[in-house]
Amino acid sequence: MAVVIYTETENGSFKKVAFEIASYGKALADQTGQKLVAVTFNQEDGSALGTYGVDEVVNVTGSFASSFSAKKYAAALAQVASEKEASLVVVSSSANSKYLAPLLAVKLSATYTSNVVALPESIEPLTLKRTCYTSKALSMVSSNQSVNIIGLSSNAFGIIETQSSPSQSSIAAEEASSSMQISAVEKVTGVITIADADIVVSGGRGLKGPENWHLIEDLAATLGAATACSKPVSDMGWRPHSEHVGQTGKPVASNLYIAIGVSGAIQHLAGINSSKVKVVINIDPEAPFFKAADYGIVGDAFEVLPALIEKLKAFKAA
Ligand SMILES: Cc1cc2nc3c(=O)[nH]c(=O)nc-3n(C[C@H](O)[C@H](O)[C@H](O)COP(=O)(O)OP(=O)(O)OC[C@H]3O[C@@H](n4cnc5c(N)ncnc54)[C@H](O)[C@@H]3O)c2cc1C
Repeated sequence: MAVVIYTETENGSFKKVAFEIASYGKALADQTGQKLVAVTFNQEDGSALGTYGVDEVVNVTGSFASSFSAKKYAAALAQVASEKEASLVVVSSSANSKYLAPLLAVKLSATYTSNVVALPESIEPLTLKRTCYTSKALSMVSSNQSVNIIGLSSNAFGIIETQSSPSQSSIAAEEASSSMQISAVEKVTGVITIADADIVVSGGRGLKGPENWHLIEDLAATLGAATACSKPVSDMGWRPHSEHVGQTGKPVASNLYIAIGVSGAIQHLAGINSSKVKVVINIDPEAPFFKAADYGIVGDAFEVLPALIEKLKAFKAA
């Protein structure tokens, strides 16, 4: 019996979320008295997972393993989960994990509970706390199924170091048939992605135009943050769609979310509710965002941002 986790990698390195999934998996393995098995894809060296308590790393090899395919990855994960007699499988809340988890659930005849924010309240029956209604409410769900998939919300558990010496093996998974082939992948490089960022600096229509985005970028660079924007900003082509956050864009679960010139429409807030600390800078004291924010500055972004950037740079230099 084992807890099996899907640990995501990119360009030969583990993503930050893989370490959070491993930390959660370790706590779950301790809670259930089972061992923790991590599954990687075309990742020859899994030793980094030994910092987070993983007992065994199974690396899936094969021609398909180097580029993500939900169907093929789900088939390989199901194969490992069955071999290890896993009762619990943990995945992240990344787009890839959300895509593969329902396919995996079908293959394992398992339940899939997404947006989980804590360790189970009980194991039999499995009772999980999850967010719902775009993170505005919490619900408790119970399952009597023998195999369960847990989709952990980003930054909900954190990264906890526990040293272990994982054994490492590889399997050549049977390749699942797929009618779709990926012919090329083009990725944004050299920038911190919204999904991996601890801090996100986001701009709205209040920035007036793309020519002013150097203020957002400068603040983000000073803080080591990712940049984001509201929907109209990406619709108008001021910023790429990959930065659009909200109900119809990307969810943000960063530790700090700074919104500048963003009104705080319900559809925008729906995507950032899971962020831990929200800061808003807006010229209008009646902007709805102030009701959702932890800290707010009422002021003109074109005056506040240069002053804030200068102060932060001086603080860092000191
Ligand atoms: C079905 C549907 C789905 C949607 N999905 C999304 C989504 O996923 N994400 C999303 O963001 N929106 C979404 N929207 C759009 C949403 O309703 C809002 O229209 C949008 O979020 C507003 O963007 P904004 O805050 O940048 O612009 P605005 O509403 O125009 O707000 C600009 C803000 O900037 C402030 N401002 C102006 N000048 C300054 C200054 N000099 N300094 C500081 N502040 C200033 C203003 O006071 C104002 O609060 C959706 C809408 C619909 C109908």
